[in-house]
Amino acid sequence: MEEQRLNMVSQLQSRKILESKMIIEAMKKVPRHLFVPLNMKNRAYEDNPLQIDCGQTISAPHMNAMMCEYLQIEKGQKILEIGTGSGYHCALLAEIVGNKGKIYSIERVPRLAKKASKVLRVLNYDNIEIITGDGSCGHQIEAPYDRILVTAASPQIPEILIQQLSENGGIMCIPTGKQRWIQDLLVIKRHEHSIEKKCVSKVIFVPLIGKFGFKE
Ligand code: SAM
Repeated sequence: MEEQRLNMVSQLQSRKILESKMIIEAMKKVPRHLFVPLNMKNRAYEDNPLQIDCGQTISAPHMNAMMCEYLQIEKGQKILEIGTGSGYHCALLAEIVGNKGKIYSIERVPRLAKKASKVLRVLNYDNIEIITGDGSCGHQIEAPYDRILVTAASPQIPEILIQQLSENGGIMCIPTGKQRWIQDLLVIKRHEHSIEKKCVSKVIFVPLIGKFGFKE
């Protein structure tokens, strides 16, 4: 599996999707095949999204890489991820921030949160906290966050998430748009007195379901 993983990374590098050393190292290290269902193990290093459990998906590796690049993550940062899913992207974030950083990751489906927690525990990640709940409201108790990564599409940018982003250059990456349609991947940067917003790509994500997302 290691050979396949290194091959996946070098493909992403040659496509210029993956450029930062810290992200390259993280993608070389995290065993993606442990985050997909057993019957998908042999497809874990293809550059495709895969079905996990409960009708949800693990994003394609290029999407994991792109979102990490857009977030410009630094060591020691505190990150909120919304949509834990398999836990794979969360493990990448944890590798990138290192042991002085911290990842809070929220998943609305209890079964997925439990499964992801188990894999992450087996892999000894002690800088991750998985929370079961509605991530469209964020996680006020630990705010502000240096970075917020939303891995499900929201009808609009939830204002409550902007409020939980550090006003000292905090960056959020979030897909927005209609359900089951091509959406905009937005990168939002918060400064003390202003917000910068940029659409960086067209994407298709599963819906963010919750109070400030889509209704169930
Ligand atoms: N980052 C994940 C990974 O590495 O496997 C992929 C996430 S998947 C594309 C989107 C996830 O968002 C699903 O697991 C879904 O249950 C979750 N989700 C949808 N609405 C949510 C909400 N309001 N709060 C938390 N999670 C939510």
